[in-house]
Amino acid sequence: MYTIDGAASSWVEDSSDGDFPIQNLPYGIFDAHDSRLRVGVAIGPYVLDLAAIHEAGLFSNTLLADDNVFAAPNLNALMSKGRQAWTQARQRISELLVADNPVLRDDTDLRNKVMWLQSKVNVHLPVAIGDFTDFYSSKEHATNVGTMFRGKDNALMPNWLHLPVGYHGRASTVFISGVDIHRPKGQTKADEADAPSFGASRLLDFELEMGFFLGTGNKPGEPISIDQAKDHIFGMVLLNDWSARDIQKWEYVPLGPFLGKSFATSISPWVVTLDALEPFRVDGPKQDPQPLPYLGFDGNGAFDIQLEAYIQSEKMSEPMRLTATNFKHLYWNMFQQLAHHTVNGTAMRDGDLCGSGTISGPTEDSRGSMLEICWKGTKPITLPDGSQRKFFADGDTVIIRGWCVGKGYRIGFGEVKAKILPAS
Ligand code: CA
Repeated sequence: MYTIDGAASSWVEDSSDGDFPIQNLPYGIFDAHDSRLRVGVAIGPYVLDLAAIHEAGLFSNTLLADDNVFAAPNLNALMSKGRQAWTQARQRISELLVADNPVLRDDTDLRNKVMWLQSKVNVHLPVAIGDFTDFYSSKEHATNVGTMFRGKDNALMPNWLHLPVGYHGRASTVFISGVDIHRPKGQTKADEADAPSFGASRLLDFELEMGFFLGTGNKPGEPISIDQAKDHIFGMVLLNDWSARDIQKWEYVPLGPFLGKSFATSISPWVVTLDALEPFRVDGPKQDPQPLPYLGFDGNGAFDIQLEAYIQSEKMSEPMRLTATNFKHLYWNMFQQLAHHTVNGTAMRDGDLCGSGTISGPTEDSRGSMLEICWKGTKPITLPDGSQRKFFADGDTVIIRGWCVGKGYRIGFGEVKAKILPAS
């Protein structure tokens, strides 16, 4: 782990305000309208071109010296180098960007070659994702949904407090922020109907989640223990697990979510490393009953990440906040999720993505889905344009933002944003 002092500042202009100060340094994939995808790091309003930095010889004396893993269309090559290389890369990048280092700061030619305004580049899906798993680890969310469908006394299923419930999702439909989503079609059945019908989903929802990327996987039959988990996790993104509630409700028995979820998942473009998040570790919720030993966790397993979601209809001039919650409310932490995922011998691969599950907080204004915010359609919300919503309408844009507040600085994830297009 390599943490950067909260008081440090960079020579890059306007870099101390906003989501991407020198304490953050998240990785992404970009091109500068030249069809050449490469790895960059966000610093203030700029992207630092790491492929060009490597070509300039500035990663010498690191584990990455001989191999330009940054001249690649995804982060997988960097990820596969492992934690020690990630730490060295972060250390080197922060050295180059810190206020008193003249190497880049005073070399105008090199600086002009390696610094791009984020507003002038295209960002791309950061990782070639092999597999996508989605957990269901917020006790508040599981309790809200369980209460709606089974009543208060049977809200949590008997397994829920003993293991992080999850399912295998669909990696091929994970999209970068800015890719708009078509309303899915499918089979649904109203409670009072005799037979199912086919058509566009009428109950399209979001799920406010975060995702973590596996940097390095494991061999089949060699589980990742809870103590090893932190060395396998590369970093995190914001994640919107789009959900068609009417399709989901009819199809999910007995094997769980399928077409109600697989049509789209949206993620933010910048992968914030576990190193950058280290100062924001906090105690998670108390776990009772005590988990089985392979899931036992000592120390701070949660992260204090503030999360907000917004809606903007086509008639609204600015977004309206739907909810404000925090990643720290999750009952099962990422290390427990990963230990559980692999305990049966499952092999994870470099670049696999795991979703947290909807993150709902303890209060009514911290719920992470429209299903909960509007309580199964019984409490519609009114937008500033005068229209009402129980779920989303065509033309609605949904935005999730997230950030951490440190002493005198903050780091953020940017946003994940997508508009809902009519069914195609
Ligand atoms: Ca989900």
